[in-house]
Amino acid sequence: MLPPDPVLPILAAVLGACIGSFLNVVAWRLPRGESVVLPGSHCPRCGTSLSWLENIPVLSWLLLRGRCRHCGAPIAWRYPAVELLCAGLFVATAMGSSTALAGAPAWLVVLGGWGLVSVLLPLTLIDLDQLWLPEPLCRWGAVAGLTISAIAGFSQGEASGRALLLHHLLAASAGLLGFEAVSALARRLLGQPALGLGDAKLAALLGAWLGLIGLGLAVALAVLSGGLFGLLGLLSGRLKRGQAFPFGPFLAGGGLALWIGGNGFWLQQLATGLGWGGL
Ligand SMILES: [Zn+2]
Repeated sequence: MLPPDPVLPILAAVLGACIGSFLNVVAWRLPRGESVVLPGSHCPRCGTSLSWLENIPVLSWLLLRGRCRHCGAPIAWRYPAVELLCAGLFVATAMGSSTALAGAPAWLVVLGGWGLVSVLLPLTLIDLDQLWLPEPLCRWGAVAGLTISAIAGFSQGEASGRALLLHHLLAASAGLLGFEAVSALARRLLGQPALGLGDAKLAALLGAWLGLIGLGLAVALAVLSGGLFGLLGLLSGRLKRGQAFPFGPFLAGGGLALWIGGNGFWLQQLATGLGWGGL
């Protein structure tokens, strides 16, 4: 049983903000090869460890007016922004209508959604910072997706378990091989890689969580939004022709949109969009 309204959204928001605070640390330390657990949070300039009062998501940043209490060094607004975003995504996944884990108990779908956000958010931040999707995070994210699919399936009987796990395994392989094929083709046609191989691993991760239809729709949303972003970037002069921009955030956004909205909703949206395009 899930807690009733409005307990669940409030719980989701508070938990999401705390997890978001931790994901900020992951996104900063993982690419630098540092431990994500130790040492505890400290000011990057003066090194003073933060007390729990200085470590409350969003609130501490507001109370300290975005500065370290000891040395006055500015604290980037990205930290509270990521905490707020994570809180919002936790609420959205808790209230969403995922179709990825067909027939699974509601609490498992909510936990799954929170797991997916916790994997996709650091991948998005690292790709934005470094144009790089770390392989271990993609791999463990895919394993987590297959595990939650297996639990969701086997909780409904052995046949359902095998079917759901096989389906999501197939979707993960399709994501990996499909993206690698497109990447190889683009390299042959354009003479330069159009997609990073990290994107193929992220597509595999999305397949593991969403299944085949969900993966297809998430990729469609990513291509549409990424294409629009590229076009607007070129028109406004912010992107140069041939300049690379990270595609991971669009894939992650598409994947989360699918998890929150469900396959049926997005099928209808895309069909309506295509209908408009055909007019
Ligand atoms: Zn300081």
